[in-house]
Amino acid sequence: MLREINRGRVERFFLFYFAGQIYLYFYFKLPDMKTKIVATLGPASDQEEVLVQMIEAGVDVCRLNFSHGSHAYHESVMETVRRCSGLTAHPVAILADLQGPKIRLGDFESDSYQLEAGDKMVFSSKPCLGTNEKVYISYPSFAKDVKEGETVLVDDGKLAFRVLSTNNTDEVVMEAVNGGILYPRKGVNLPDTLISLPSLTEKDLKDLDFILEKEVHWIALSFVRRADDIHALRALIDAHPAKNKPMIIAKIEKPQAVKNIEAIIAATDGIMVARGDLGVEIPMQKVPMIQKKIIRLCQKAGKPVIVATQMMEAMIENIRPTRAEVSDVANSVLDGADALMLSGETSVGKYPVQTIRIMESIISQIELDETVFYQQKNYDLKPGPRFATDAVLQNAVGLAQTADAKAIVVVTHSGYSAFRLASHRPKAGLYVFTHDPHLIHSLNLLWGVQTSWDEGTGDAESLMRRVNTSLLDKNLIAEGQFIVNVLSTPAWKTGTSNTVRLGRVGELRGDRR
Ligand code: PEP
Repeated sequence: MLREINRGRVERFFLFYFAGQIYLYFYFKLPDMKTKIVATLGPASDQEEVLVQMIEAGVDVCRLNFSHGSHAYHESVMETVRRCSGLTAHPVAILADLQGPKIRLGDFESDSYQLEAGDKMVFSSKPCLGTNEKVYISYPSFAKDVKEGETVLVDDGKLAFRVLSTNNTDEVVMEAVNGGILYPRKGVNLPDTLISLPSLTEKDLKDLDFILEKEVHWIALSFVRRADDIHALRALIDAHPAKNKPMIIAKIEKPQAVKNIEAIIAATDGIMVARGDLGVEIPMQKVPMIQKKIIRLCQKAGKPVIVATQMMEAMIENIRPTRAEVSDVANSVLDGADALMLSGETSVGKYPVQTIRIMESIISQIELDETVFYQQKNYDLKPGPRFATDAVLQNAVGLAQTADAKAIVVVTHSGYSAFRLASHRPKAGLYVFTHDPHLIHSLNLLWGVQTSWDEGTGDAESLMRRVNTSLLDKNLIAEGQFIVNVLSTPAWKTGTSNTVRLGRVGELRGDRR
C-alpha cells in the first residue's frame, strides 16, 4: 500500500518534471534572434557545464575582460570557450577587452573612509598607502594635467571632488562635493581633463602580445579618444606574425570619443557604446541619444555596434530583471544594435544562464515587430574600388524585401559583404559562407549573420547550388521559397560580389541532390 502511494508520487514527480522541461523548452525556444548577445565571462560562467547552457540559450560572443585575471586564467577560459563552441556547434567569437588607460585609487590603511561634503583630501601620484588625508592615484601626470575647478569623479561618480589647487608635480588638493564612503582601488573619471596618458599602457602592450598569440576574433580598446588610438593598435596587430588577426572594437566612453565619433568609426572595425564609463564622463541624460546616434552612424558605415553595461544589472542578485531593464534591452534592439552586452550579470552574477534566457526572450519578442527591419534604406554609395560591390549588396537587400525572400546567401573571403548586408538589417535570413574558419567565428558578432564553411571553389553556378543545397539540407530554406544569391562573376574574380540572383529554391536543377 505504502509502496503504491510512493510509486504514485514518483510518477507524478516525473510527469510534472518532464512537463516543466517541455514548457521551458518551448517558452525559451523562440525564433532565431537577429540581435546578438555578448556575455562577459568570469567565475560565474567559466565552467564548461554553465557555458554550454549559456551558448545554447543564445550567447554569440564571449568577452574576456583584461582588467581582471591572469594570462593563465584567460588562456584556460579561451580553451573552454573553444571547446564549448565545438560542443554546441555554434561559432562563438572571443572578444578580448583591453583595460586601456583606466585610472584608479591605490590601497588604503583602512577598509574605507567616510567623507562629508567640504572635506579636503590630497590625491598623490607618488605611491603611498591611503589615509583619510592623502590617497594614491595611478596617473603620473595628474598634477600637471588637472586645473583648478575641474571635477574628479570616483567609484562610477558616487563621489565627486573639485580641484582646489595643484603643485603641478605630484599632489592635488581636492574638496569633496558630496558625502559618501571612499573605498580603495576604485576607478576615477576626469570628465573635464585632457588626459595625457597613452592609449595603450604597458599592461595593455603585454596583454596585446598574449592576445595576438591566442588568435582571438575581436579586440576591444578602452577609453579611445581619437582615430589615431585605433591606428596605433592596428599597426601593432599588423606587425604581429600571427596568421589570424583580431578585428578592432573601439569603446566609446570619453567625451572626446563622442566628439570624434565619425573619424573613429571610419578607423575601427566595430564600436561599443560603453555606457558605464560614458554615463559618468558625460551627463548621463545625454547617453540615450548618443546611443541612437552612434548606432545610426555605424549602420551607415557598415560597422557592427555593441550596446553595453547595466542591461540586466538586477540579475546579478535576482532571478528577474527590473521592468526598466526589460525596456532598455527592448529599446536597444529597436535602436538597431548589432549586439547587446552583459557584464557582471554573467561574469559574477548568481543567474548567468537565466540572464541569457530572459535576454533572448526579450530580443525574440521585439524582433516580431517589423520596425526592427530595413532600418537603413541606402548608405552613401561613394565612387571607389568597392562601388560595384556596395551597389549590388544594397540592391540585393532591396530585392529580398520586394520578394519577401526567405534568405540572402553570400560567399565571402574577407567578410566585407557580410558587414554591408548586415548593416541594412534585412528581414530575410543572412547566410554567409566562407572558407576561413577564423572568419566564421568573427562574423558571428554581426546582426542577423549566420556563418557556415564552404571551400569557396568552382564557378558561380556550382557554388550557388552547393551553398543552397546545404541550407536546404539544414531545413533553413524550403522548396518554392524566394532566395537571393549574391555571387562573384567571373569565377576567378573572388572577393568581388558583383552579381545578384533572385530565384525560387529548387528552381535550379541541383538545388537539392
Ligand atoms: C563600460 O564602461 O560600459 C564598459 C563596458 O567598460 P568596462 O567594463 O571595461 O568598465
